[in-house]
Amino acid sequence: MEAVNQLQKRAQELRQLIQRYNYEYYVLDAPTVPDSEYDRLFRELQNLEAQHPELKTPDSPSQRVGAEPLVEFSQVRHQIPMLSLNNAFSQEEVFAFDKRIHDRLKSNEMIEYACEPKLDGLAISLLYEDGILIKAATRGDGITGEDVTTNVKTVRAIPLRLIENNPPKLLEVRGEVYMLKSGFEALNRQARQKGEKEFANPRNAAAGSLRQLDSHITASRPLSFFCYEIGVTKGNFRLLNTHHEILDLLKAWGFPVIPERAVVFGIEGCLDYYQKITQMRDHLNYEIDGVVYKVDRKDLQEKLGFISRAPRWAIAHKFPAHEELTTVEDIEFQVGRTGALTPVARLKPVSVGGATISNATLHNMDEIERKDVRIGDTVIVRRAGDVIPEVFSVIKERRPPQAKPIQLPKSCPVCGSDIVKPEGEAIARCIGGLFCPAQRKASIEHFASRKAMDIEGLGTQLVDQLVEKGLVHHVDDLYRLKLDALANLARMGKKSASNLLVALEKSKLTTLPRFLYALGIREVGEATAHNLAKHFGDLAPLMHADENTLQSIRDIGPVAAQYIHTFFQQPHNLEVIRSLMHSGVHWPAYQKEETILRPLEGKTIVITGTLKNMTREQAKEKLRELGADVTNTVSKNTDLVIVGENPGSKYNKALELGIKIIYEEEFEMKSVKL
Ligand code: NAD
Repeated sequence: MEAVNQLQKRAQELRQLIQRYNYEYYVLDAPTVPDSEYDRLFRELQNLEAQHPELKTPDSPSQRVGAEPLVEFSQVRHQIPMLSLNNAFSQEEVFAFDKRIHDRLKSNEMIEYACEPKLDGLAISLLYEDGILIKAATRGDGITGEDVTTNVKTVRAIPLRLIENNPPKLLEVRGEVYMLKSGFEALNRQARQKGEKEFANPRNAAAGSLRQLDSHITASRPLSFFCYEIGVTKGNFRLLNTHHEILDLLKAWGFPVIPERAVVFGIEGCLDYYQKITQMRDHLNYEIDGVVYKVDRKDLQEKLGFISRAPRWAIAHKFPAHEELTTVEDIEFQVGRTGALTPVARLKPVSVGGATISNATLHNMDEIERKDVRIGDTVIVRRAGDVIPEVFSVIKERRPPQAKPIQLPKSCPVCGSDIVKPEGEAIARCIGGLFCPAQRKASIEHFASRKAMDIEGLGTQLVDQLVEKGLVHHVDDLYRLKLDALANLARMGKKSASNLLVALEKSKLTTLPRFLYALGIREVGEATAHNLAKHFGDLAPLMHADENTLQSIRDIGPVAAQYIHTFFQQPHNLEVIRSLMHSGVHWPAYQKEETILRPLEGKTIVITGTLKNMTREQAKEKLRELGADVTNTVSKNTDLVIVGENPGSKYNKALELGIKIIYEEEFEMKSVKL
């Protein structure tokens, strides 16, 4: 009896929690827990109700979709309910889905599945009368949605009229309104700058943007749309036999359809598709949280039907969540190359997006204050693509009484020098300069990095040892390293030591821009190093340039000019440069701007995707030598985008903006004159 009471209590608890999270997510568009936590609770409730059907209540969230519509909007009753999708989180669950379908259809025949990315936006129903859009509604609780017609009309991807002379009398098209990834990031950046609340994810941002009482706000948001099914139809419409043919028809009528869709054979085909989309995920300009498999044949879909809140003929195969809950065990401050202090949260290890995370960046003190992170807090950590994991937000209601606020240290945790944080700046710095071993290590790593001197095999661990053992104080010491000393280091041995010496020798022949970048002068990134090299042609005139001359160079402002000038005034820096050149570091003469043929002068070029025949660095270098400005973002000022294999979102952006695109092969042929 006691046990039954316990279960009943837990079911009740879960229902209340889920209802609250539904309200925050669907009504307020502001969830407070990650989806992974929500999904866990939801599953727990579903399992509990499956094992003890007597615990099921008619109002249980397990039986319903979404949440009730907001009263501010007039309500729209869906003639055919808008359902959710069942989820699969593992291959086993996907196989079980396929088996259920075969069992239900009493057939062994291989099923054809229509596969699509699962867009992370919000479902919308669009009603067309005689081919004209007359009503748009959100899913709401599946039965009743909100009338968002005025707002939907501001989404340019949604056709207001079908491209069809003889349209059906009535046609309901369903799909997902989503926010472009780039737009979502920009929106949150703006919110951060204004001190406003950020959206938790593109889905909430899309929902929040569409459910505005003022349609001007909706119009200003980068929303787009993909359709994925048809709802009610009346007159002059014969439903096609398969899902994919319906999408083809919608496309012909002017609806955007997900380009990455595919029809595959059997469940193995679905799993291959999952792998393929997983690899493309970071390059898509819209957020997805999985893929959807749908039985392609409409007659089979009909036979299979629905259960409570989802169709039996489809399943969402979700990606591992890239947000999770964990606790902050400590906060440490890391010191970077320029002395900048980065607070790093040491976390209770947690699996996020398939990798175990035990550290996450907190960026700077302002960020800590804004998010109010304390040691002991339960936080949401986020890891998207290759980006460094970050603490996204704190779950304040789970804060323990002893949670400890974080103070900026007064002295450098590595060298003990003072820490300064100029008024109005977000970044605090150790003033120890090259006295600070952390800054020394970071500047050596920078010197050796791929875009700088490109010294293969000289990674973080080796640099740590070299500095700690006193073998390298400054970058020029690298070229005085001896085989025996290197071979005696931990995890080295004779072979690796001699490989490193070969790499060091090879690095001595460099280019002027690489060398300038390697010196690690503040504000001198790759592009500035190129501009300096272009302008001065050699090191000596640059070393003697005054701030005014420096400021006359493209992209160099007063701050950078001052850093560059000051750098070359320091006897210590001059000593290091002399010593490097004495060791044999050299570069071929760099022709000054006026003297060389520069067919790409004034052109702004972006590269996306993997190039087959040269590294991206080589391509950039070549383009810059020809006078081009190579940048990382596509904008209306971009003249050309060079596309390699598996291009990223820059490719989509270029298509969107109608920027000229050429593929790698063409680039190689044309590279001298474009
Ligand atoms: P869902 O988002 O998991 O799946 C159903 C929806 O997927 C459909 O309604 C449709 O809008 C969308 N979809 C995207 N691409 C599609 C495609 N190609 N074909 C068909 N549909 C497609 O389900 P849901 O019921 O909308 O939301 C439940 C999910 O929302 C939970 O799993 C959870 O992750 C999240 N949630 C989180 C919280 C929270 O507090 N964090 C609260 C509530 C819900």
